[in-house]
Amino acid sequence: MSDAIGIVGGGIVGVALARALTARGDQVTVFEKEGRLAQHQTGHNSGVVHAGLYYTPGSLKASLCAAGRALLRDFCAERSLPYREVGKLVVAVDESELPALAEIERRSIANGVPDLVRIDDGAGLREIEPHVAGVAAVHSPHTAAVDYASITEAMAQDVRAAGGGIRLGHEVTRLRTENGRVRVVTPVSDDVFDRVIVCAGLQSDIVARLVGADPSPKILPFRGEYWEMAPGRTDLVKGMIYPVPDPRFPFLGVHFTRGVYDNVHVGPNAVPALAREGYDWLRISPKDTWESLRWPGALPLAKKHWRMGVDEISGSLIKPLYFQKARRFVPELRMSDLTHKSAAGVRAQAWGRGGELLDDFAVDQVGAVTLLRNAPSPAATSSMAIADYVIAHHLTD
Ligand SMILES: Cc1cc2nc3c(=O)[nH]c(=O)nc-3n(C[C@H](O)[C@H](O)[C@H](O)COP(=O)(O)OP(=O)(O)OC[C@H]3O[C@@H](n4cnc5c(N)ncnc54)[C@H](O)[C@@H]3O)c2cc1C
Repeated sequence: MSDAIGIVGGGIVGVALARALTARGDQVTVFEKEGRLAQHQTGHNSGVVHAGLYYTPGSLKASLCAAGRALLRDFCAERSLPYREVGKLVVAVDESELPALAEIERRSIANGVPDLVRIDDGAGLREIEPHVAGVAAVHSPHTAAVDYASITEAMAQDVRAAGGGIRLGHEVTRLRTENGRVRVVTPVSDDVFDRVIVCAGLQSDIVARLVGADPSPKILPFRGEYWEMAPGRTDLVKGMIYPVPDPRFPFLGVHFTRGVYDNVHVGPNAVPALAREGYDWLRISPKDTWESLRWPGALPLAKKHWRMGVDEISGSLIKPLYFQKARRFVPELRMSDLTHKSAAGVRAQAWGRGGELLDDFAVDQVGAVTLLRNAPSPAATSSMAIADYVIAHHLTD
């Protein structure tokens, strides 16, 4: 018998779940608080289909990224959506970065990244990216660029065609378990479902609290800002150029990314956002900021990483500092090549009570409510595989 399932959140993960559930015959309703789908992380990200270079082997991130990449590639082909395999070069600028590069190579091999190549000299690097500087790199030729908002819309068409409902402008304000079923209340609706799945991104801890779930992990919002490269200078970058990441914070470090529409952006950085949906320094929510500050993990986090924080905030406020970081990789870059800041994104990154970063995807169950508590990058890449995983592990009785 089919179930009536409510989904909170119209980002790519919620809509991918709705698509997979309607395909197996469930009656699905998606609740999205905004007037359009994909208005938060899904529509404000780097647009990269990751090939799985960084993730701890054996983690959900590693397995669902690999599976999700293949599903997404096939979906884009089926629906004639743009999918460009521009490739990614992870560059060690000097010898001090070689051990960390070796670790990325080890993880990539363990994760089955397809056709990965190690390059050990500057000339080899420049065969792939003619303007790059560095001593060694790994190249992932199948890393791709897409438009996640369009993909989400295409998935939503399938949901509607299969009889599913997508309710925009419906903010879920109450969730209550009643006789094993779940009541979902918004200011304009009141419904009861057999099961509810929450994929609320930046609000996922707030919605989790509505059903009495543990407040930890908490979402501390970190904004990622991008600079756009002057159209006449984008030939400095053929595909994607990434630094060797710190495995503890793989999202840090200036990247060059050729997007699906051929623009090249530089970024994102990672600065604390002063509101959950704080897309610039002027968007401040005293409530969100106060909640972040009084989280027990905030102080240990600040003590441990204050240097990194100061560095990122300085780069956000002072363009020459950001530019200097970018120019390490592309020495021909000029300050005037970074023309303006483009739309930023805010990461829903979950942190524990002790200030520790929750690295892997995390799903909790409270009665008939399934809570996606941590779905940071590469969750857009992995979205269709996350949907299959949640159905297999949480919705199959
Ligand atoms: C700067 C940046 C760069 C990134 N780059 C990449 C990348 O290149 N590749 C990649 O794979 N991933 C990337 N990511 C991560 C990726 O964007 C996210 O992991 C993914 O979009 C998560 O999707 P989601 O559906 O869980 O969340 P979201 O897209 O944030 O969607 C959650 C939705 O829930 C809605 N919502 C919240 N509360 C309620 C409520 N009470 N009632 C109703 N609706 C509600 C919100 O309005 C929102 O639309 C990046 C993220 C950022 C921020």
